[in-house]
Amino acid sequence: TYDVHIIGGGLAGSEAAWQLGRRGYCVRLSEMRGAGPEWPGERSPAHQGDGLAELVCSNSFRSDDSDKNAVGLLHHEMRLCDSLIMSAAAIAEVPAGSALAVDRDVFSAEVEARLAALPNVDIVRERIDALPEGRVIVATGPLTAEALAGSIGQATGADSLAFFDAIAPIVYHESIDMDVCWMASRWDKGETKDYINCPMNEEQYLAFHKGLVEGEKTSFKEWEANTPYFDGCMPIEVMAERGVDTLRFGPMKPVGLDNPHWATPEHPNGRWPYAVVQLRQDNKLGTIWNMVGFQTKLKHAEQVKLFRTIPGLENAEFARLGGLHRNTFLNSPVLLDRTLRLKSAPHVRFAGQITGCEGYVESAAVGLMAGLMACAELAGQEWQAPPRTTAMGALLSHITGDAEAETYQPMNINFGLFPPLHDVKKKQRKEAYTGRAKEEIAPWLEGLTPA
Ligand code: FAD
Repeated sequence: TYDVHIIGGGLAGSEAAWQLGRRGYCVRLSEMRGAGPEWPGERSPAHQGDGLAELVCSNSFRSDDSDKNAVGLLHHEMRLCDSLIMSAAAIAEVPAGSALAVDRDVFSAEVEARLAALPNVDIVRERIDALPEGRVIVATGPLTAEALAGSIGQATGADSLAFFDAIAPIVYHESIDMDVCWMASRWDKGETKDYINCPMNEEQYLAFHKGLVEGEKTSFKEWEANTPYFDGCMPIEVMAERGVDTLRFGPMKPVGLDNPHWATPEHPNGRWPYAVVQLRQDNKLGTIWNMVGFQTKLKHAEQVKLFRTIPGLENAEFARLGGLHRNTFLNSPVLLDRTLRLKSAPHVRFAGQITGCEGYVESAAVGLMAGLMACAELAGQEWQAPPRTTAMGALLSHITGDAEAETYQPMNINFGLFPPLHDVKKKQRKEAYTGRAKEEIAPWLEGLTPA
């Protein structure tokens, strides 16, 4: 018998197993890649090997600067929590300037060796097809095998598990020029001013439309080729290709949106622009706003260039750029409690990218926290979440309730998820966020059960 059954030996599952195993709990870590005595082994379309914690694409954990960068801060906090992923990365590090990059084979081998050396962690090569009884952590990632995804879908309700993301870019509120944009809802009578509206005249719209159609796009991977375009999440450029006015009758519809900046004596409320880009609040803090209907496969550099031609977004800073991929993830803000457990079946906890975080480091961080949560539960203690001013706390809060459930899409760590520091000058804000986090994580660390 095991204390915890972890499904998925990727970044999150390996980290969770480490946190539990180091504290003496018995873990079964089930990984479908690699053959077992009665199991031939099976790989997702993206994985190429059988080692634990395989990096399926880039070999970079992004910036390692913990003073100015949110992901660098996350590295720092994970190191303070004795993260397996971070210590294996230190062994496997290759030169990459201020970024942390690794030799992927050395990294994966190190993770596996460290876990294999823990006598109470059993690494079992097998595929799990249904949610098991008992305490379980599901960390099967963006390409969760089909049968288990079906079982999760049954437990959560089919609409709550997505198999593709449709990511619209997200803009930091502070970088939007409100002298050009204005707050309003369509046919606004003054009560509900829910959207930030960016106005375009005809010339601006036509140039923007051309940019969308002609901009360079990323192609789908071979195994993503049958990605369906669901209603409401068609890439903006595909819609643009259907006709020059399609967007003006869709997400860029200007009707009912009087622009007060264009008010005249004849039109004291302002005029409707030729087209409008709308942004909707994306988190409860109001720090990040998503571009409604702007999911896209335009290359990231093209997105930044083109979206900065939108009036009011000339200096936009993006917390996330758009994308569309195969990606299994839950509507976590609705389904999970604050300790990542399924509200309807609290013996099941989720970790990693399947919770709707995005990225190697974020997935591992959520795995780390899921491991610590299970440890607290097993010790009969109440779990204390890291302060939400820390990178781990901000990420966890976002996933488990602060994100807008209706528009929930995978999210990297970024300063927009932190409680804002309005009274600090913009130039000093990054250091202020990281400084506050470093200070406030200290008492929380003291409360952790030592490994
Ligand atoms: P994974 O690392 O995928 O681990 C899940 C594990 O579960 C896998 O080992 C899988 O074999 C196993 N598994 C699945 N189903 C079962 C089952 N039923 N039974 C047993 N085992 C099972 N992030 C970045 O930061 N940088 C990138 O460059 C990057 N590139 C990506 C490229 C692709 C193609 C994809 C799909 C994602 C990419 N990501 C990237 C996003 C994400 O960070 C990674 O997918 C990351 O590996 C997620 O970690 P995880 O632990 O949640 O899942």
